[in-house]
Amino acid sequence: MSLSTAAPSLAELTTLRVGGPADAYVEATTEAELIDTIRAADDAGEPLLVVGGGSNLLVADEGFGGVVVRDARTGFERESQDACGGASVTAVGGQDWDDLVVAAVENGWVGIESLSGIPGTVGAAPVQNIGAYGQEVAGALSTVRTWDRLRGRVRTFAVGELALGYRTSVLKESMRGAPTADDPRAPWFPTPRYVVLAVTFQFRLGTLSAPVGYGELARRLGVEVGERAPQGDLRAAVLELRAGKGMLADGRFGAAPGADRDRFSAGSFFTNPVVPADQAHLLPAEAPRYPVRTAMPMTSTGPSLGVVDPTLVKTSAAWLIDHAGFAKGFGLAGAASRATLSTKHTLALTNRGGASADDVVALARVIRDGVQDAYGITLEPEPVLVGVSL
Ligand SMILES: Cc1cc2nc3c(=O)[nH]c(=O)nc-3n(C[C@H](O)[C@H](O)[C@H](O)COP(=O)(O)OP(=O)(O)OC[C@H]3O[C@@H](n4cnc5c(N)ncnc54)[C@H](O)[C@@H]3O)c2cc1C
Repeated sequence: MSLSTAAPSLAELTTLRVGGPADAYVEATTEAELIDTIRAADDAGEPLLVVGGGSNLLVADEGFGGVVVRDARTGFERESQDACGGASVTAVGGQDWDDLVVAAVENGWVGIESLSGIPGTVGAAPVQNIGAYGQEVAGALSTVRTWDRLRGRVRTFAVGELALGYRTSVLKESMRGAPTADDPRAPWFPTPRYVVLAVTFQFRLGTLSAPVGYGELARRLGVEVGERAPQGDLRAAVLELRAGKGMLADGRFGAAPGADRDRFSAGSFFTNPVVPADQAHLLPAEAPRYPVRTAMPMTSTGPSLGVVDPTLVKTSAAWLIDHAGFAKGFGLAGAASRATLSTKHTLALTNRGGASADDVVALARVIRDGVQDAYGITLEPEPVLVGVSL
């Protein structure tokens, strides 16, 4: 374990590259160190921020008045593999997400290939149930081993206990819930009550991907939605699509560090609004409408696209932003122009160099209010906002 009093700034630990210093910073290299650090902070009543890749965080310029801990462990292990049962693979929380996807594609483990190129760690993946191009991590999860900060013990969740949905889970909800008789110390924000120590995945075996669940990706691959494609081709197509949108981590996938300022973001800054189907007529007539699918765990025939929930409709936050008058590259005047919309995608707020958290927040407010004025829809931020709010 390395405890540093000269803690790095959150700007160094996050992909948006904003945020002041932490009071204390720990890099845990074993599970015991991670748990000890969490327990010590909780016992002392110190605020705690578990940070992974920092790719879903916007932290205040004042920094974080508490302990920041990073799980510096990496690694994954195949527990079992056979033609009937598929592969069971366990990865530690600090493992880089995309490196696991690379291994999955190479080993013929089917179920996370469409999640290629998402920055961050395995530990954070189930927290907001990462998803992209028609796939969610929910479809490949088996169990999630966590440290329960309230009970002071390890708790393992089966996938069915995680209440996984669009960008949500029991883990994420545990950050924000009000105190109850069962959980008097809530809310645990900005880190869940349950800190993910390890994740076990259940993969089908094959050279072909899971059914392709996204039109743009299917077109790129020359297949129909619902058909499969060679896993390697699918990964390459996803990375190409992501590169075109600036939705890849800085300094990876061929671009030199700092070469593409559109990658200095937290990915999508707003979630896509989900409305009850009986109110879908209130959405702008031309706005896209997408089905909302229930997160389906692995079935005997492999990961499925999930069952469409007929009571819900999802629309596109990027479309709303664009049509409310905020084009790619939009920024405010003056110093706040150091933060702008990505020049490749209206859904990412980016740091053009030297932006402060306040610059990002000022831009986010203008975008949110503009969409609210134009369409009466309040966009919700997707990243975890620490010490700042819209
Ligand atoms: C360019 C770019 C593209 C992106 N594209 C996508 C996308 O397509 N789909 C998508 O879903 N997301 C996307 N994201 C968002 C982000 O990559 C994911 O949410 C990712 O899972 C965050 O992982 P992280 O390790 O960086 O988490 P961090 O940003 O470090 O932390 C985020 C939250 O998770 C908590 N957390 C971190 N580790 C743990 C743990 N071990 N246990 C419990 N809580 C933990 C933190 O305390 C914090 O509350 C994108 C981000 C960027 C920058």
